[in-house]
Parts: sequence; C-alpha cells; structure tokens
Amino acid sequence: MKTGEFDALCDKLVCPACHGRLEAQESRLACTKCGSHYAPNRHGYIEFRVDQTGEDVYEQDTTPDEYAETQEYCGLRLFDEYTKPVILSTPFKSVLDVGCGMGMGTSELLEDGYDAYGIDLPNMARFWARAGKDPAHFFCCDAARLPFPDESFDVVYSLGVIEHIGSVSGYSTLCDNYTEIRQNYADELLRVTRPGGRILIACPNKHFPIDIQHGPQDDLSTETLIGKVRAMIYSKTGANIHPTWGKNHLLSYSEVRDLFCTKGGARGFEAMHLRGYFGFSKFERKSLKPLLHVARFYIENLPGFLRKTGLNPYMLARITK
Ligand SMILES: [Zn+2]
Repeated sequence: MKTGEFDALCDKLVCPACHGRLEAQESRLACTKCGSHYAPNRHGYIEFRVDQTGEDVYEQDTTPDEYAETQEYCGLRLFDEYTKPVILSTPFKSVLDVGCGMGMGTSELLEDGYDAYGIDLPNMARFWARAGKDPAHFFCCDAARLPFPDESFDVVYSLGVIEHIGSVSGYSTLCDNYTEIRQNYADELLRVTRPGGRILIACPNKHFPIDIQHGPQDDLSTETLIGKVRAMIYSKTGANIHPTWGKNHLLSYSEVRDLFCTKGGARGFEAMHLRGYFGFSKFERKSLKPLLHVARFYIENLPGFLRKTGLNPYMLARITK
C-alpha cells in the first residue's frame, strides 16, 4: 500500500479501540486520540488488532487450502442465490460483510459499483492476497471492534458468524462471559449501521434439534454414552443432534432479537425465508440422498408463522435499526 492510499483510508476509517481519528504515518495508521497503531500484515492487509495479549489467532495461518476453496465456491453460490437478492430488495450504497471469508460477495458488490467492505480474522489474508483482493476494502479485525465510523453502512450482513462469537477457540466452546461478548458484537454492528439500515444475521437455530452446519465438536462432545451415541449418529448420517436449551453456541430467534432489539435498541426484527440459502451439499452422501427433495421442500417452504419456532432448522433474521 502506498502513502496516498493510507491517507485516503484515514478519511473513511476510525480507530477500532477508541473511535478516534487516524493519521497516516509512513506505512501504518496511527490513532490521534489513544496512540494505537495499525499496520498491514505480511499479506498486505491492515490488522486492526485491539487486544494485543491473549491467544494469538492473529498469527496463525491454519486454515487449510481445501477449506478456503470450498468456502470460495459455497460463498459465491450463497451470495448470488440468497444474500444479493435479499439486500437488493431495498436501495443501498454502502455494505459491510462481517466475517466475509473469501470475500466473494464483497468483490461482486465492488464490481457492481457499491461501496463494499469485508472483514475477517487474519487467517483469511493469505487467500485474499492470492485472489488479489483490494487492501483498501478488506481488513483483518475483530467483529466486535470495527474500524468504521458510526452509521457508515446501509446494509451489514454477518452470516454463520454469531454462533462463534464468544467462543474460546473461534469454534464452539464458549467463554464464561460469552453473553457479554455477543452483546458487544450486536452493539458494534448496530453502531456502524445508519438509522433505518438493515442487518442480516444467520446461524443454525438452537431450538431445532439438529445442527445442519457444524460437527459435534463442542462442549457437549464428551466420553459419556450420550456423547458417543451422538458421535455415532453424526458419523453415519451427518446429522449433529444437540439439546435445544441451555449453554450452547447456537442461538434461537428470541436470543438474537434480545441482543439486537431489546438490548441493542433496533426497531425491526423479521424472520426471513430460506429459499436459495442452502446448497444441500450434505445430502450428496448416499444415506441422505433420498431425503434431498423432502428436506429442500420443507426448509424452503416453511410457513412464515412457523419461522421463529423450533420447527425451523435455521435462524435468519433481518434487523432494522
Ligand atoms: Zn484510538
């Protein structure tokens, strides 16, 4: 990144720690208020790390190439078949993808002329570099500490992210204060959204007993009989059965509404349809193939009044600030 590009970034970003003004200093950004500084990592993307202590997910390049390739393919399909049509249904100019992964949606929106940004943890940076993503639109940061000024975006979306917020390792084992961390995440997404702007949040529905996206490597995977039965069912069918109550990394509709509306102050909360959201690749396995059409029909045609209930496998909410 050149000096002029750093200057341009100072006009549209703020310090994620204190929201103070940033200024360009040679090859980094410095906060004029708290003195924090942020520099590009070895892949060329600025790391807005606030917490400089603790377990260092920021220095790991552990994401395997195959995972990234699958994400690239699935991310593009999801974006084209679901996210894009949903966000295009209301006029917008600026958009942020929180947990953008390979950033397929952000790239497509940039090509279409929108002011689009993607953020994710630094383990995505080497894939962004390989794909030539613009370092002025992709940043490494924490989802609960964003480097954008208040009310920057018309649309913010964060899909399959919230269930990992407040976890110890970024997967599913929860920290003691996970509710507080999740509230910080909700408040931060609301902060960068303009009044009247929309936020899309998605994760498997805690009230539905099968998690269709994650494996059974969580707090509940123990050496007990129930734990073993659960692992066996998963290995045979790919269905991860879990309790629908208590401490669990998944969220229900009411928990998400509580974070964003009751506590966060958002005005609107809508349970969205799921047409086009899933690629149903799990149903490629032989044992599940006969169920593909039934599952697709069920998930895509669940009546609106049942969407917020435990009959819906997925939590997909559109929140209006
Ligand atoms: Zn600062």
